[in-house]
Amino acid sequence: MQNIDNYDFNNKRAIIRVDFNVPLDDNFSITDDTRIRATIPTIEKIISGGGSVILMSHRGRPKSKDDVKLSLKHIIKHISKLLNKEIQFADDCIGEQAVTKSKELKKGEILLLENLRFYVEEEKGNIEFSKKLANLADVYVNDAFGTAHRAHASTTIIAQFFPNDKMFGYVIENELNNIDNMLLKAKKPFTAIMGGAKVSSKITIIKRLLPKIDNLIIGGGMTYTFIKAKGGKIGSSMVEDDKLDMAVEIMKLAEENNVSLYLPIDSLNADNFSNDANTNQTDIDKIENGWMGLDIGQKSIDKFTEIIKNSQTILWNGPVGVFEMGKFENGTKQMAIAIAEVTSTGSFSLIGGGDSVAAINKYNLAEKVSYVSTGGGALLEYMEGIELPGIKAIRDK
Ligand code: AMP
Repeated sequence: MQNIDNYDFNNKRAIIRVDFNVPLDDNFSITDDTRIRATIPTIEKIISGGGSVILMSHRGRPKSKDDVKLSLKHIIKHISKLLNKEIQFADDCIGEQAVTKSKELKKGEILLLENLRFYVEEEKGNIEFSKKLANLADVYVNDAFGTAHRAHASTTIIAQFFPNDKMFGYVIENELNNIDNMLLKAKKPFTAIMGGAKVSSKITIIKRLLPKIDNLIIGGGMTYTFIKAKGGKIGSSMVEDDKLDMAVEIMKLAEENNVSLYLPIDSLNADNFSNDANTNQTDIDKIENGWMGLDIGQKSIDKFTEIIKNSQTILWNGPVGVFEMGKFENGTKQMAIAIAEVTSTGSFSLIGGGDSVAAINKYNLAEKVSYVSTGGGALLEYMEGIELPGIKAIRDK
């Protein structure tokens, strides 16, 4: 398998699948450029090796080519500023302009292609479309971990046209190294904090983690399905009534795997789902009718913090409360602070899954944890042991 560090890019045109699916405000200014900044080392490596670069990405879910809001032209200036270099643009990702501009690329030059999803062929994994993209370049680099679990044209199908010239960029390499290190070489105690809304979306990953971890902390909306399954009173808290047996199964499996499972001890409740709601704090299993648990209480924060501080490895997926609302963010904020603190004393922490990443960013702690994953669904699927098509396509001979 080729590797970005020892491949000779001299006089080669590299087409890189990046993830430039960044949020823009109404004035088309980028509100979070993390994903763009993440790909800079890959681009710079190729340029410094004497190559030229063709960048391709999707953005949003365009209905047609007329969806100008989702054009990648809005981000040219920003990429150009970050790289301190002029960026060329092809207003169609395939077609004559893309062909001519890529052919004329000189050493060190960069061309950005228009949104791949302006063609339905991208998500369909159409082979002719993949071939047209492949024809623009000499070497293929996949650096979009967030879409590696999709067998799209630019993430997977295209790789077959580069049997000897395909590789991962640094974003994917870092992801795989960090996740593999955590799953295969975790220092113990290993604690997983699983939060978020629903137990049904996390069941596979929890089952997969149980043989590896020592502690499982449950928080967020899924808590109440567990508490109800144990016979507690949860008022009108979020619950998946058809998943009570799933919760029971997880509790049983935790015991069989000698994993200590910690549910919240107390709950911060609201009389409606809003930041202006009246609140009270009760034991987690004594929530009155008309009240819903939207955050963990102080006793839970203290207990969870203590467990985190005694862990050598921490995986955090999903907030422990409705952290988007100021009144119900404290539990999630305190988890983020505890994880940052224990990281500063040498523990390894990996944050993954859309909403915990949003939370760690909200509290400006992304730099204080060991690794923040760029993949939501892709991260979960990879940790579940599923072979991601985008990863397989590079690894396959
Ligand atoms: P997920 O995408 O499954 O990780 O879920 C994240 C969402 O779960 C966030 O938007 C949180 O606001 C929400 N959430 C966390 N705790 C609760 C709760 N106790 N009740 C309802 N929603 C919650």
